[in-house]
Amino acid sequence: MNIAGYKLYSIETSRFALDGGTMFGIIPKVMWEKEAPSDDNNCIQLVTRSLLLVGHGRKILVDSGNGNKWKEKFKSIYNIDTDSVNIESSLKKYGFYTEDITDVFCTHLHFDHVGGNTTYSNGKLIPVFSNATYWVQNENWKLANSPSEKDQGSFMEHDWSVLAENGMIEFVDGKEQFLPNIDIELSYGHTIGMMLPKLSDNSEILIYMADLIPMAAHIPLPWIMSYDINSGLTLKEKNNLLPKAVEEDWTIFFEHDPVHEACKVQFDGKHFRLKRTVKISE
Ligand SMILES: [Zn+2]
Repeated sequence: MNIAGYKLYSIETSRFALDGGTMFGIIPKVMWEKEAPSDDNNCIQLVTRSLLLVGHGRKILVDSGNGNKWKEKFKSIYNIDTDSVNIESSLKKYGFYTEDITDVFCTHLHFDHVGGNTTYSNGKLIPVFSNATYWVQNENWKLANSPSEKDQGSFMEHDWSVLAENGMIEFVDGKEQFLPNIDIELSYGHTIGMMLPKLSDNSEILIYMADLIPMAAHIPLPWIMSYDINSGLTLKEKNNLLPKAVEEDWTIFFEHDPVHEACKVQFDGKHFRLKRTVKISE
């Protein structure tokens, strides 16, 4: 797929699992289990899926997934698998390498979105994308570095500390465009200042939904994760974006859906739903 002067690639960086009840908030298990089957621990299968944008002299990676800094204990809690798929193998599939990446767009600093930013080499923390500028929203940076009791488990300093020490982070304020032809939608329901990149030209509009709509099952309005710090606001934000997505026939890209990379959305008179799936990479 090509949009706004970029060629797009869907880059799967890990597989993992989270509690299905937490992923669907108030929705009863009898309903969500039809969309996402759970295992013996009540966990559902997820992926981390980045979007690579190649164009305008840049190779921009949107989010970097769980990464490989995990201790065995957490690896087993979240069932993190970076053996069958990882950032290196997925980039290589299209002839790219981590050192080619010029920019890393961090939607927000939760570990499953920026864990791949850094890694350990001989016990030393190093940037994975050695030649990249890492773009971070100021408000989310502040929260990540002084999180509440609810979200402190989602932020891990080793995902960004070495980047800050090396001066590799560029801080962004508000919705100002900082990369060519990429507009920013801001969201405050899931976390504070989550950035959703949006590309548009005359023929296509695509938005990377990050954790506002992490899977196709989260398209209906009340299907909202319990991780969100303000689910009422998430509802409002979905109510604002989804009618536009239907009307302007947007492609919405899913970071965590193990089956659907992206889709078009429809409104059936009662609910917003998946209309048809869209394949990003050829
Ligand atoms: Zn998140």
